[in-house]
Amino acid sequence: MPFDAQQPAAQKELVNNTQDVTQRSRHKIALRFRNGNIAIFAIVTATMAMAIFWAIHDMADKVSADYARLYAVNTEKTLSTYTHQDIRVIANAARTHTIRAWFADEEDPQNRKDAYELMKDVISTLQGSSLYICIHKTRSEYSIEEESSLDDMRPHARIDPSNPEDSWYFALLASDMDYVLNVDADKKLRQKRVWLNHKVFSPEGELLGSFTAGVPFALAAEKIFSGYQDAMVRTMIIDGKGIVMMDSALFGKGDLLLNAPEIPVQTISSDPAFQAAVANHLSDEHDKRESGCFAVVSLASNRLGYVTIAHIESTDWAVVTLYEPFSLFDPTKLLPFGAIMAVLLAAFAITSSILSYRLIFRPLGHLILSLSHLESKEEHIYGQERDDEFGVLSNVIHRLLNEAHHDPLTGLYNRRSMEEEMRRDMGTLSRSGGMLSVIMVDVDCFKGYNDTYGHEAGDICLKNIASVLTTATGRTDDLAARYGGEEFVVILPNTDKDGACTIAQKLLEGVRGLLMPHSANVAVNYVTFSLGVTTGVVNRKQDQNDYLKKADEALYVSKQTGRNKYTWLPMQQAPPEDSEGPCAPS
Ligand code: GH3
Ligand code: MG
Ligand code: MG
Repeated sequence: MPFDAQQPAAQKELVNNTQDVTQRSRHKIALRFRNGNIAIFAIVTATMAMAIFWAIHDMADKVSADYARLYAVNTEKTLSTYTHQDIRVIANAARTHTIRAWFADEEDPQNRKDAYELMKDVISTLQGSSLYICIHKTRSEYSIEEESSLDDMRPHARIDPSNPEDSWYFALLASDMDYVLNVDADKKLRQKRVWLNHKVFSPEGELLGSFTAGVPFALAAEKIFSGYQDAMVRTMIIDGKGIVMMDSALFGKGDLLLNAPEIPVQTISSDPAFQAAVANHLSDEHDKRESGCFAVVSLASNRLGYVTIAHIESTDWAVVTLYEPFSLFDPTKLLPFGAIMAVLLAAFAITSSILSYRLIFRPLGHLILSLSHLESKEEHIYGQERDDEFGVLSNVIHRLLNEAHHDPLTGLYNRRSMEEEMRRDMGTLSRSGGMLSVIMVDVDCFKGYNDTYGHEAGDICLKNIASVLTTATGRTDDLAARYGGEEFVVILPNTDKDGACTIAQKLLEGVRGLLMPHSANVAVNYVTFSLGVTTGVVNRKQDQNDYLKKADEALYVSKQTGRNKYTWLPMQQAPPEDSEGPCAPS
C-alpha cells in the first residue's frame, strides 16, 4: 500500500525495500521465462539438427547401397561380355572345318596355310593374344604370335604327361567341360595371361587336341579399373579358389595380371561381412556359374562401407569390389548445405526465441506479476493500455477482478476485499505502531424505508449513501465498503480519535444533507444512519474482528440512544507485545 508524504522514514524504507524485492522478483520471473524459452528452442533445434543428420546419413546409406549394386551389375556385365567375346572367338575357331582339318592332318600344306590365315584373324580379334595349339594325335605343340609367319607353323615341343608344365592340357582333357580358363604365366612373354583352353573335336566327336588363346584379359580389366583411380574403391577379380588374380590397387603399375600377387582374397579385409561374403561365394553349394548373381554386403565395421561380389558368367571368377566407408557417398560433400541449414536453423531459433520472448513471455510475466500485486488498492494492471491481445486479456482480467472485489449495487468494496485490505493495513500498521480507526455504519429504520417506499427506492437510497461514504473518505488510504445489507464500514488507517470523529460527523451531515424523505424513521423524517466509531494503536496480536466488534458495539450504543448520531469507543489496550518480535518498536 502506498504511503503519503508525511509517513515516517522507517515506513518509507519499508516501501523502498518492498519495491526492490518486487523489481528483483520481476527480473527473476522474466529471466526464468527467457531461459525456459531458450532451453525449449535449443532442444527443438538440436532435435531438428539430429533428424536432418540421420536423414542425410540414411539417404547416404541407401544411395551407397544402390550405387554399389549398380556398380556390381555393371562390372560383372562388362567383364562377362569381354570374357564371353573371347571365349566365343576361340570356340568358333575351334569348331571350324579349317582347324579340324589341320588338327586331323597337320602335315598337309593347304591345311596349315588355311589354319594359319584363320589363326591370324583370331589373334587380331583378341588383340595381342598368343595362340597355343596342342594336336593330340601327334602330341605336337605349336605356338603362334602376332608376328609369326607361316614358316613358324611348326611344332616346338611334344606334349609330355610327365612334364608338370603340360599338366593343364591333361586337366583339360579330364574336364567334362568344352573349355577351361586358366591364369598362368607365359614364360616366353614373361607375362601372366588368361588362357582360354578349348577342346577341338572331329565332327564325329573324336578329340583332336586343344586350341588355346592366351588373351590379354588385362585389357578388359583395365577398362574397368581405370574408373577406380580412387583408392577408396578396390576391385579384384578372384577365382574359384579365392585367389586374387587382378587387383585395381595395382592399376597403372604394369601388367595387372603379372603384378597381382596370388594371395587368398580373405586377406584383403578382415571385416567379418567381407570374409563371410567371400566364404559364401567360394562355398561348394554356390553356383558360381549362375549368370547375374551378385551380392551387396554392408561392411560390419562401418555403415556406408560395402562389398559386392559379382560372378562372371560362364566362369568361376568373380569381381569383388570393396568400397570403403564414404567412398560412394561422402557426407562431407554436404557440409556447405549442412552449414547453411545450421545457420538458418540457428537464425530461426534465435529470432523465434526473441520474438516469442518479447511478444509472449515477457508481457505474460509482467501480467502475472501485476496480478500478484493486485492485493493492494492499486487497480491498474499491466497491459491494459496495450493495443493487442494482451490489452484485451488485461482488460478482461481487470473487469473480472473489479467485479470480484466490488459490490455490484453501490460500487464500493465488498466485505471480502475490505477484510483483506484491512488485514494488510493492520499488518503494516502493527509494524510501524500506527493508529487505525474503523467506523461501522447502519441505516436507521431501513426496513421501514423499504416497506414505505419499496425495495427499488431502497436500492437507490443505498447508492446515495454509498456516494456520501465515498465523498467523506477522500484520502487514498481510506476505504469504504458495503459490509452487508444496509450496513457499511469505513476503514481509516493512520487516523486518531479526533480524525475519525470528524469523519463520522462529516458522514452524518452528508446523509442528512441528502434530505431523502423517510417517514418511517423514528429519529427524524428523512434518511439518517447511526455510526459506531473506534480507534486504537494497532498491535499485531489484534485482528480486524476486534476493531469491527468494537465499532459494532459503539454502533449499538448509537442505536440505543436515539440513532442519527455517532458513538466513539476506544479499542481495548492489547496485552504488551513480545519485545523480541521482529517489528517491535525499539
Ligand atoms: P435499525 O434502525 O435498528 O437498524 O432498523 P432497521 O430496520 O434498519 O434494521 P434491520 O436490520 O431490521 O433492517 C435492515 C433492512 O435492510 C432489512 C432489509 O430489507 C434491508 N435491506 C438490506 N439489504 C438491502 C438492499 O440491498 N436493498 C434494499 N432495498 N434493502 C435492503
Ligand atoms: Mg442493520
Ligand atoms: Mg438499519
